[in-house]
Amino acid sequence: MGKLAGWLIVFLLLIVNPTTTGSQAASFNSAVFQPGSERYIVNHQEQAMDAITFIEQGRVWVPLRYLAYACGITTEGILWDPVTQSARLTLGDRELTLQVGSKQLVGQEGPWQVDTAPQIIGDRVYLPARWVASYFGYGVDWDAEKRAVLIYAFPAEKPQPPPAVDILLVNKQLPLPADYSVGELVDFQDFRFAAPVQAPLQELFAAAARQGFSLRVTSGYRSAAEQQAVFQNRASKQGLNVARATVAPVGHSEHQTGLAVDIAGTTRAYDWLAANSWQYGFILRYPKGKEAITGYAYEPWHFRYVGVPIASFMHYKGIATLEEFVFNYAGG
Ligand SMILES: [Zn+2]
Repeated sequence: MGKLAGWLIVFLLLIVNPTTTGSQAASFNSAVFQPGSERYIVNHQEQAMDAITFIEQGRVWVPLRYLAYACGITTEGILWDPVTQSARLTLGDRELTLQVGSKQLVGQEGPWQVDTAPQIIGDRVYLPARWVASYFGYGVDWDAEKRAVLIYAFPAEKPQPPPAVDILLVNKQLPLPADYSVGELVDFQDFRFAAPVQAPLQELFAAAARQGFSLRVTSGYRSAAEQQAVFQNRASKQGLNVARATVAPVGHSEHQTGLAVDIAGTTRAYDWLAANSWQYGFILRYPKGKEAITGYAYEPWHFRYVGVPIASFMHYKGIATLEEFVFNYAGG
C-alpha cells in the first residue's frame, strides 16, 4: 500500500507540473529518428515534424527543435539568437551552446571540437543527433537494419524502431514493389490520383492560376493494363525503340504509383512550376541534364508528389533528382 502511494505521488507530480525541465527529463524514455522521414517517435508515440531527418557526411542530422524535444527539453529550454545564429539548450542543470557553421560546441565543462558544424537548411537548424543527446547524458545508437537513430535515457528503455523508411522510388531499374497498393483513388480534372495528392494538386493549380497560368492535367494514375496500352500504342505508331526510350515498361512507371502528374502548360508555366512546385510537395522528376541519373530525357511536364518536407529539403539543398535524395540523404 505504502509503495503504491509512493508511485501515485510520483505520477501526480509528473502530471501536475509537466512543463518544468526536471519533470520532462524524468518522463523522457526514448526517441527514434529515421533518415528520409518527417516523423519521429518519442516515448513510443509517433509525432510529426515539419522537416525531415537526413544522412550527410556519415552522420544523421535532425532538426534542432525536434531533437531538443526528443531529449526532454521544453520550448522554454531552447533559446535561439538569430544575430549570432546560435542556440542554447537547457535541460535541468545542463546547458549546451552551439552555433551554425561552427565546429565548436560549448557546455558547462567548456568548449570542445566536433567534426561537422550545425547547418541551416531553409529556415531550419540541423545538427547531428549524437552530439546533443550524448551531452545530455542519453545513450545513442544507430540501428543499421532499421536505419534509425535510437536515443534512450536508460539501456532498459532502448526503443524498438519501426522498419526502415523506404521512399517510394520507381525508375527503369527499380520496379513498383510487388505488394504496392495505390489505395484510395481520387479525381482531379478527370484523372485519378492517390488520395494524398488531391489537396496539394488543387493548391498547386490554384497558385499557378493566381500567376496567370491555366494548367491542364494530361495524365495521372495508370493501372498496369493502362501502362501496357500506352507502351503498345507508342510502339505500334513509332516503333519499339522509340517506345522503349520514351515510355516506361509496365511496373516501372511512376504513373502507376498514383503520385505522378503530367501537366500541359506554356514554357513560362513550366518555368514557374519548376521553381515553385516544391512549396506544394511536388518535384520536377526528370530535370534537364540529369538523364544519366533518372534514365529519362528532360520532361518539363512530369511532376512527382513527395510531400512538402522532402520537396523543400531537396529545394534548399539543391538536390535535383529523387534518386540522389534517396541514395545520398535518406540512406536508401
Ligand atoms: Zn509522366
